[in-house]
Amino acid sequence: MTEFADYEVGFDIPAKPGMKADEVQTPALVLDLDALERNIKKMGDYAKAHGMRHRVHGKMHKSVDVAKLQMELGGACGVCCQKVSEAEVFARGGITDVLVSNQVRDPLKIDRLARMPKLGARTICCVDDLANVSELSKAAETHGTEIECLVEIDCGAGRCGVTTTPAVVEIAKAIDAAPGLKFAGIQAYQGAMQHLDAYAERQEKTQIAIEMVVDAVEALKAVGLECDIVGGGGTGSYYFESKSNVFNELQCGSYAFMDADYGRILDENGNRIDEGEWENALFILTSVMSHAKADKAIVDAGLKAQSVDSGLPVIFGRTDVEYVKCSDEHGVVADPEGALKVNDKLRLVPGHCDPTCNVHDWYVGLRDGVVETVWPVSARGRAY
Ligand code: PLP
Ligand code: MN
Repeated sequence: MTEFADYEVGFDIPAKPGMKADEVQTPALVLDLDALERNIKKMGDYAKAHGMRHRVHGKMHKSVDVAKLQMELGGACGVCCQKVSEAEVFARGGITDVLVSNQVRDPLKIDRLARMPKLGARTICCVDDLANVSELSKAAETHGTEIECLVEIDCGAGRCGVTTTPAVVEIAKAIDAAPGLKFAGIQAYQGAMQHLDAYAERQEKTQIAIEMVVDAVEALKAVGLECDIVGGGGTGSYYFESKSNVFNELQCGSYAFMDADYGRILDENGNRIDEGEWENALFILTSVMSHAKADKAIVDAGLKAQSVDSGLPVIFGRTDVEYVKCSDEHGVVADPEGALKVNDKLRLVPGHCDPTCNVHDWYVGLRDGVVETVWPVSARGRAY
């Protein structure tokens, strides 16, 4: 729980519980708590109905509070994150099952990872190189802990991971034989297709991943190695992994908040996924600070309030005005009808949620126009 007594609104924090939504200091990240809860519940119910565990991807929100909500309301089994420092934030915050869905190679990072079980967390990481097995094993032995390891398969993303079944089996056997390590299964996240617009194209790419995973799981079984975890799946593909009969853990992240880039992809029926499947729960609240030109409003959310790697933000609920440009501290909103005035507030749906959350310190949770909660972006900046 965040103690607010010593915090000054406008200096330490953008708002305090009980304030009205239009008093929030902008630019600020705001969450529509009703929409967030509905998204979390919906994905949780989906996973349960399909016999899947859901290990939510915490790199998206970097928030212990949101992760706890996903576990309590959405039945999530734990979190994924990408960095050891991020994992430590979740473990220290009380999350008891943490997967670093990434390779850990730096000696100090390996040492820190090996100490994580002492924080009370089941600690899992990915491996794609035999040499890493002995590095992790030594560290776990030194600290008297256990690190669980998934062999990562590159099933199309072209990043980390091995690409052949014999390589999976070789590394899995080494993990199984290594003191301090436990072979826990397979990591197979196809990250390169999640944002493709066409459902059929995403399905086709995921099918290739599924076939690689089936092959690996069978080969592992043949040498006596069972996979406790076969993990993967994101907001653009979770239905495919869920029906694959081989994956048993989903790792969705963006579904909870949504963003403008993801919102554009199409579901099975050709509808945008932000028009029915998921709701926009995350916004950048911004204020008009100048309207010196009749057809342009200048708002206070520019590049420092968001990431525009996946496109500019979209103004929520408005078709008469459009966010057309940004610089460090300014956003330019085309306002051809002069509909806006100074101090008007707009809700921007960020182009890409993950890197946008990482440039804020706080989430302001709103319900019925009132600030209900203010949560820290707990692992903000923890990219190491
Ligand atoms: N799993 C891994 C390993 C990821 O890197 C990501 C995000 O990039 C996800 C899951 C979550 O994906 P999404 O935000 O598409 O749901
Ligand atoms: Mn993302």
